[in-house]
Amino acid sequence: MNRSHFEVAVIGGGIIGSAIAYFVAKDGLSVTILERGDLVSGTSSRCDGNILAIDKDPGFDSQMSLKSQQLVHQLSKELRLPFEYRAPGSILVCESEEEMVAAEKWVRRQNEAGLAFRIIDRQDLKQESPFFADDLLGGVECATDSLVNPYMFTFALCDGAQQYGAQILTKTEVTGIKKDAEGFFRIDSTRGEITAKKVVNAAGVWAPRIGAMVGIDIPIRPRKGHLIVASRQVPVGQRNVMEFGYLLSKFGGQRKVDPDTEKYGVALVFEPTESQNFLIGSSRQFVGFHTKADMNVVRVIARRAIRFYPKMADMNVIRTYTGLRPWTEDHLPIVSQVAEIPGFYIAAGHEGDGISLAAVTGKLIAELIAEKSETIIPTEPLRLHRFSKKGGET
Ligand SMILES: Cc1cc2nc3c(=O)[nH]c(=O)nc-3n(C[C@H](O)[C@H](O)[C@H](O)COP(=O)(O)OP(=O)(O)OC[C@H]3O[C@@H](n4cnc5c(N)ncnc54)[C@H](O)[C@@H]3O)c2cc1C
Repeated sequence: MNRSHFEVAVIGGGIIGSAIAYFVAKDGLSVTILERGDLVSGTSSRCDGNILAIDKDPGFDSQMSLKSQQLVHQLSKELRLPFEYRAPGSILVCESEEEMVAAEKWVRRQNEAGLAFRIIDRQDLKQESPFFADDLLGGVECATDSLVNPYMFTFALCDGAQQYGAQILTKTEVTGIKKDAEGFFRIDSTRGEITAKKVVNAAGVWAPRIGAMVGIDIPIRPRKGHLIVASRQVPVGQRNVMEFGYLLSKFGGQRKVDPDTEKYGVALVFEPTESQNFLIGSSRQFVGFHTKADMNVVRVIARRAIRFYPKMADMNVIRTYTGLRPWTEDHLPIVSQVAEIPGFYIAAGHEGDGISLAAVTGKLIAELIAEKSETIIPTEPLRLHRFSKKGGET
């Protein structure tokens, strides 16, 4: 029988909510996930599965990713269900001398921050994959980067949470939240009322709607991305490959590409799945909550892939899909308690890094809930109040 009172209620059954439920349940607290659809029915099933440090700003951002990579490695041993974890590293490829110069700087900065990055040359690329275009100059390798299947990772985390006693309620939409005189949260849902001492808003691009239920403004916007799925054919490569221009596309810099590539924010991302279907991405657009695939964008992505892998022009694709990245202005997620509402936490806004950062987010929220004085990563850069002085959360 379902219980209706918990120490912690997590809103959202994507990768972030599932990781939180796992670490909170492992700490011995009673926890429930409230998910309006099925598990992994949001962005976490419409994405790639790269666990990357290669594309993170050196410093806090890359250190946070490194911690998450270490936790994912640990989870691959600790969780009962496998999730296609592989850790082959990843590479960024450069198509101009200018990019090679920028890549060298990128590697130097990452090495200074203690990360295992190195420059690779044209020969290394040829050894990496015979499918690369001949004119590519080289690139950057990050040795620690890994890959997962995001659906399976989420299910494995939920299964792990359930082993520690967590309850998962799907088809349970949260429609309102109030705090009562005794300090408990009363959560209205399509399955009736659930009460909890603490609430975590892990609703991804929908986190602002949950925020509005308690009167707070959460500055997250949906940033649409398209992916192409190729059929299982020849093995094109064993690890994640991105073009160096992806960094510029992600952080909003100037690239030398045609107007459509620029307009749709297209940059090559190649991901080999364990079954050797490969995923080709991706685009970045602000078009509200529209999730219909746009064939104009898909064509530009395909063209970009063929620029780096000319022989892909003869390969078959199966389908395309889109997802909505929960974007924040400074590209860092919001992982914090809200001061005006003690016991109310936000864990959302991971943009294109939610799979990479789920483990460290889950661990950090569990530590914040347990009021630990030392946390796995510093909390200051992830606080809500960096966007508005009004927040003033703890
Ligand atoms: C094309 C693309 C490629 C990507 N590639 C990568 C990658 O390689 N590596 C990486 O790290 N990240 C990647 N990402 C980003 C990653 O997918 C997201 O950051 C991550 O999935 C966000 O997870 P989440 O749990 O916050 O959100 P979601 O998975 O969207 O989960 C939120 C959940 O909240 C539920 N919900 C909403 N409102 C309510 C309500 N009122 N009541 C109950 N439940 C509610 C939703 O149904 C949903 O299931 C990519 C994203 C895209 C779009």
